Amino acid sequence: MKKKKVIVIGAGFSGISAATALADKGYEVQVLEKNAEPGGRARVFREGGFVFDMGPSWYWMPDIFETYFGKFGKKPSDYYELKRLDPSYTVILSDSEVIDIPADMDGIKDLFESYEEGASGQLDKFLKQAAYKYRVGIQDFVWRPSVKITEFLSLKLLIDAIRMDVFSSFYKHIRKFFKSGTILKLMEFPILFLGAISQNTPAMYSLMNFAEITMGTWYPMGGMHQIVKGMVALAEEKRVKFTYNSEVTGFEIVNKHVRAVKTAKGLIEADMVVASADYHWVEQLLGEDFRNYSEEYWDKRVMAPSSLLFYLGISKRLPKLKHHNLFFDRDFSVHSHEIYTDPSWPSDPLFYASAPSVTDPSVAPEGCENLFLLIPVAPNLEDTEAYREKYFLQLMDRLEAYCGENIRDSIVYKRSYAHQDFMSDYHAFKGNAYGLANTLFQTAFLKPSLKNKKLDNLYYTGQLTVPGPGVPPSLISGLVVAHEVDKSLRK
Ligand SMILES: Cc1cc2nc3c(=O)[nH]c(=O)nc-3n(C[C@H](O)[C@H](O)[C@H](O)COP(=O)(O)OP(=O)(O)OC[C@H]3O[C@@H](n4cnc5c(N)ncnc54)[C@H](O)[C@@H]3O)c2cc1C
Repeated sequence: MKKKKVIVIGAGFSGISAATALADKGYEVQVLEKNAEPGGRARVFREGGFVFDMGPSWYWMPDIFETYFGKFGKKPSDYYELKRLDPSYTVILSDSEVIDIPADMDGIKDLFESYEEGASGQLDKFLKQAAYKYRVGIQDFVWRPSVKITEFLSLKLLIDAIRMDVFSSFYKHIRKFFKSGTILKLMEFPILFLGAISQNTPAMYSLMNFAEITMGTWYPMGGMHQIVKGMVALAEEKRVKFTYNSEVTGFEIVNKHVRAVKTAKGLIEADMVVASADYHWVEQLLGEDFRNYSEEYWDKRVMAPSSLLFYLGISKRLPKLKHHNLFFDRDFSVHSHEIYTDPSWPSDPLFYASAPSVTDPSVAPEGCENLFLLIPVAPNLEDTEAYREKYFLQLMDRLEAYCGENIRDSIVYKRSYAHQDFMSDYHAFKGNAYGLANTLFQTAFLKPSLKNKKLDNLYYTGQLTVPGPGVPPSLISGLVVAHEVDKSLRK
């Protein structure tokens, strides 16, 4: 019998994940990717001996990667070598307060105790609750397709939801355990990965702290794109066909059914389509009659931030830097106001500097440093060269002051990246970097649906739908949609 054909739009983490799972279930799968290479927001580029990961740099929740590869009888180590970082990362709170976060629990407890008497015991209590949330959240909630509210209507789930602290904020929750301003800042950091501030993030996301503290911060040697490389290799083992430089520009729809997708080279027929490209963009291609959501709906969504990024090749080593450096030496309440409440270019931003060459000599020429700088900024800002340069000079001043040496004269490669690039490279709605924020009202069935409600064979996956932004959630999203698609095709 002829195999049913599934087209997956986009070769980011979610698209590759969905494609691999569907090929594994016996479907003929073709991935159409607009760019010349896979990875989406996690692509890589090479310049003058430097290897720059374009997006993700934090490898958290190693168990999810194991689950992913394990589903296909593989292990991450079949494809890449992981190294645990110690310190996990460094937080610069002021000139005089620089904290290396130890990889081991005893070290973290000593650190907490040095800021607040009794804080190590409080950490135990906090982590005990967070462990429950991680277990229920990661083993149950995130695997729910969330296409119907009824998936969540059971007494057990309601009890779980209450125990998970779905309905209170992380901000309030964490203050029940700690008073030290420094500890609060450290504990609120992982929440930033969810694209919202702690006041608007459900307390169940203390599961992020659990993951970070107990499972550690890892790095795939060679760079984060090694994960993509491994996933593509696995997909190709399953006979997924990748077609690059192949943008989907529309759909041929007959009787509420997508018969084919349109590309510059013509129509490609399919029994099923899974769109992992930015959700809002796919809806534009469908036209008004077949969209799940209106423009007003999208305008009301709380987007996770966009980013202003700099990829820098430095012709010397910078001994003061660790692998991950968080410059939290400014008032976050002002910066977050400028991201969420009054979207504008930040007056005095926090920023993040990653120097993977500290861990991995293969990502920079000998004696050089590979530097990735990131400022979280509001989506939909006017993105001009003048703004980019203004912030570049600010970051240089701060980095040079911290490192105690001139850096700008040693820059041998420089590239900036912001809203305009997110839009032209990924069709990102408002130039978003990380999709939708994980606020209470944008969680589970309150997120854009995995299923197109007006067409019988179009599904969505990726960071704008369930379970949310980040590499592990995108992997899960692909697996969840593959399960739904398989059920639908078997009907
Ligand atoms: C700067 C940055 C830093 C980050 N840091 C981290 C981190 O440290 N840790 C972490 O876990 N997560 C991080 N993230 C988040 C993580 O990278 C994303 O959540 C994840 O990569 C999203 O994967 P995706 O498959 O949903 O989307 P994407 O990666 O955007 O994939 C969608 C794909 O669809 C393609 N496409 C779009 N339109 C079309 C079309 N019309 N036709 C064909 N193809 C199309 C795009 O080119 C793209 O390849 C970061 C993201 C960014 C941007």
